[in-house]
Amino acid sequence: MTVAAHFQFKNNTLHAEDVSLAALAEEHGTPLYVYSRQALHDAWDAYRVASEGRNVLVCYGMKANSNLAVLNEFKQLGSGFDIVSGGELARVLAIGGDPGKIVFSGVGKQVWEMRAALEAGVKCFNVESEAELLRLAQVAQEMGKVAPVSLRVNPDVDAKTHPYISTGLKENKFGIAIESAMAVYQRAAALPSLQVVGVDCHIGSQITEVSPYLDALDKLVALIQALASQGIHLKHLDLGGGIGIRYTDETPLSPTDLLDNVFRVLEQQGLAHLQIVLEPGRSLVGNAGALLTRVEFLKHSEAKNFAIVDAAMNDLLRPTLYDAWHSVEAVAPRQSEGSTPRYDIVGPICESGDWLARDRPMELQQGDLLAIMSAGAYAFTMASQYNTRPRAAEVMVDGAKAHVVRPRETLGSLFSTETVLD
Ligand SMILES: *Cc1c(COP(=O)(O)O)cnc(C)c1O
Repeated sequence: MTVAAHFQFKNNTLHAEDVSLAALAEEHGTPLYVYSRQALHDAWDAYRVASEGRNVLVCYGMKANSNLAVLNEFKQLGSGFDIVSGGELARVLAIGGDPGKIVFSGVGKQVWEMRAALEAGVKCFNVESEAELLRLAQVAQEMGKVAPVSLRVNPDVDAKTHPYISTGLKENKFGIAIESAMAVYQRAAALPSLQVVGVDCHIGSQITEVSPYLDALDKLVALIQALASQGIHLKHLDLGGGIGIRYTDETPLSPTDLLDNVFRVLEQQGLAHLQIVLEPGRSLVGNAGALLTRVEFLKHSEAKNFAIVDAAMNDLLRPTLYDAWHSVEAVAPRQSEGSTPRYDIVGPICESGDWLARDRPMELQQGDLLAIMSAGAYAFTMASQYNTRPRAAEVMVDGAKAHVVRPRETLGSLFSTETVLD
């Protein structure tokens, strides 16, 4: 039975590629993040195939999963990176990533982050406000550099996704309203320490249909043409990330669905010379990961059954934050005896919001192992040490081999730099 492409049952035990998750839990303990190298490559391949023969740069939206081992895979496959902080820039530089393929997004870039990105020589700053534009111009001028810029415009389209991950509506904090974009571009074009190179948008995340992208594209195309009539000629059009994945029964659009449609519009509009930049995060890593956890206790009350597990909201925040649904698999499923009970899968943290899944029919016993699926994106990167819980180890499976790509944090490391007053 297939759970996700590279997570399959063999001999009634869930495996990542050729490695048993039971063996991994035995060796490395739980909770444990497990990634499939092959799944990363397959996800990349969907973008590679869709881009063939087209001028497309894929910049992995690395906030989804920024482990160096993950970044290194995408670097080797030819990916660029979409960064949102100086810290993410440092990670890309640490693996020898090409700064010429980095786009720098984010609403609150600080001076030191701008400096570091200018020093590195990033492809583009995706500027989100006029104030940021002026700061960037100043920083670049002080350094004697010219900053390549794109304006992130807010096309005011509905991405038809969860409100917390919808970013392209007027009321969101992101981007520059499309009506104001022309004036801000003219301002940018007049500043000698800036070079206008592109336009970008990012309308949301876990998008499953192509139509919101095409709505955004129509608005950007109109802007690009208006800019050209004013003598401002762009080199690239960045449509952001946002392609969804299957958590349960979604059938998200594919990179090919997106790019076939985009290039049709560009050709119709005489804009086929533009480079298309994409910033996919979730769709490159989400289904390449699982969070492995062990049942500590079962608790039955009149109203509910709880499976209290050793992973918690500090390891996987998405259910708490977005009411997100993750599939939960028993690593070694038990035969059902009569009617299958329903469990809420909850963590040990002292918050009622600490739940991972609700109302799941499962045959469970204390000590059983569970795999929370689709935990490759926005899982470890959102992890915290709340309740002084060390962040879990990350393992990457490659065929029959498992590599620890980040060890479990030690208790000592959690507070070794803290001091008390005399
Ligand atoms: C988060 C983010 C992405 C990646 O989004 P996904 O939904 O994970 O593909 C891309 N670009 C920007 C600007 C982002 O903030």
